[in-house]
Amino acid sequence: MKELRKFNRDRNLGLLKNTKVFDVIIIGGGALGLGCALDASSRGFSVALFEKHDFCKGTSSRSTKLIHGGIRYLEKLHFSLVYESLKERDLLIKNASHIVKQIGFIIPVYKYWSMFYYWIGLKLYDLISGNYIFSKSKIIDSKTALDYIPNLNKNKLKGGVIYFDGQFNDSRLGIDLALTSLEFNSVMLNYMSVDNFLKENNKISGVKVFDSIGDKYYNIKAKSVINCTGVFSQSIINLDSIQQESLIKPSQGIHLIIDKKFLNGDFGFLVPNTSDGRVLFAIPWLNHVILGTTDREVENPVFDPVAKEEEVEYILKNAKQFFNIKPKRSDIKTVFVGLRPLVSNSKKLKSKDLSRKHKIVISESGLISVIGGKWTTYRKIAEDTIDFLISKFNLKTIESPTKKIKIINGLKHIDFSEKSLSEKFYISKSLIIHFVKNEMAINLDDIMSRRTRCLFLDVEESIKIAPIVVEIMANELLKDKIWENKQLKSFYKLTNLYKI
Ligand SMILES: Cc1cc2nc3c(=O)[nH]c(=O)nc-3n(C[C@H](O)[C@H](O)[C@H](O)COP(=O)(O)OP(=O)(O)OC[C@H]3O[C@@H](n4cnc5c(N)ncnc54)[C@H](O)[C@@H]3O)c2cc1C
Repeated sequence: MKELRKFNRDRNLGLLKNTKVFDVIIIGGGALGLGCALDASSRGFSVALFEKHDFCKGTSSRSTKLIHGGIRYLEKLHFSLVYESLKERDLLIKNASHIVKQIGFIIPVYKYWSMFYYWIGLKLYDLISGNYIFSKSKIIDSKTALDYIPNLNKNKLKGGVIYFDGQFNDSRLGIDLALTSLEFNSVMLNYMSVDNFLKENNKISGVKVFDSIGDKYYNIKAKSVINCTGVFSQSIINLDSIQQESLIKPSQGIHLIIDKKFLNGDFGFLVPNTSDGRVLFAIPWLNHVILGTTDREVENPVFDPVAKEEEVEYILKNAKQFFNIKPKRSDIKTVFVGLRPLVSNSKKLKSKDLSRKHKIVISESGLISVIGGKWTTYRKIAEDTIDFLISKFNLKTIESPTKKIKIINGLKHIDFSEKSLSEKFYISKSLIIHFVKNEMAINLDDIMSRRTRCLFLDVEESIKIAPIVVEIMANELLKDKIWENKQLKSFYKLTNLYKI
């Protein structure tokens, strides 16, 4: 069996210093950055990727965890986006079957006429998807709906329409993408912030990058640079040349986690039209239930966004209408918040009406920025971006092979029979050591939030087990008690943002 390359910081730093000029530098280690790294490296380009915090620390760990066409985009008549997303959904379930799974949803129906309306919409969804990988939608009566979701509000329930989409663990797919592009020789480093550009004759020739672990600056040269910093893209564009108008309109979405008993099964539900015209999801995920989400424009993006009281109230109020036993505030185990990097073309449109399509732009000095899109379409966006790069820089045309690349499962050889440190979710000593040795986990938050999803599932339980986790990390990284205490202090501070 072929041994996978270790995702190791020192090794990657060594490769960084030994490479004179990279073909491509990628700024940002979220879905788009990691997707571009895999696309470019698998075409044979030399690639370096820099992530300011941890991989997927930004929006890419904070999604609703759906690999979907987006049925609500059908209502807005965004057929090409739905078509593209459904094609990518197929590719992902084929190429990353260890992490992308089919999940069933019920749209509960309380008025007969709406049954027909949703059924037509979902048949169109099936038709656009045109495949046999995902099961097809169908109408069900109220008894069947309650068999699937026993806690659905049965008062006046007429039945429902079932449909199927994909579900995944976003930050785990991010790590698996990094591991896959490592096999194509990408150099990838977290905790490396791009702070400026190097220029020759007014053209970008590299980046100045700050290593916040080693407390050191590096000047790294490259033939091309791609900005994949999501909601922070505008600040990178402005580092290159000040632009008056922002290309991005960040929109905040929150999720509440409650106990799995509220769905008590494998099916989720979707409400297409809440009190203010948004979509509401209740989704089983990792033995818990996700409720979400909101769509609120924000002016200035931050790395750790906070849920507003009215957002929590909005989700609880709307969710309560559809449950028999109703979730209360005290049932919320954690709240996590993400910022959508939406492309802004019009000041008049509200963020919930903005398209999830992506945009690729190039500045006069040659900085390529890619903005928008969804996790579902990361591969296609990456392919478009590298095609764009090839055409703008007159490089030799090489087709993207990513449609056929199997994504590596970083946890394939983990023995999950070892006793867990928690009864609420799986986290073991050997898993923690694996993350430190092979998946570039540096800080406690990396393990609690993105390698495992403890903090995204249960904040109190995460606080409880953090001292044990950090001690195992310290032993592995040869760190002292001062380091442990510093880690715990900053992690506990972070947990405040996940409490309500
Ligand atoms: C609430 C919500 C729900 C969503 N649900 C879904 C869903 O169910 N399905 C779906 O397909 N999509 C979903 N999305 C969309 C999807 O999550 C995003 O489109 C995607 O994660 C964006 O990835 P990105 O790489 O563009 O941005 P990010 O993930 O934010 O990555 C950008 C990275 O750049 C880094 N960075 C910033 N500045 C610098 C710098 N100077 N130097 C180096 N690095 C830097 C950041 O730390 C960050 O990690 C959702 C989004 C939100 C907000």
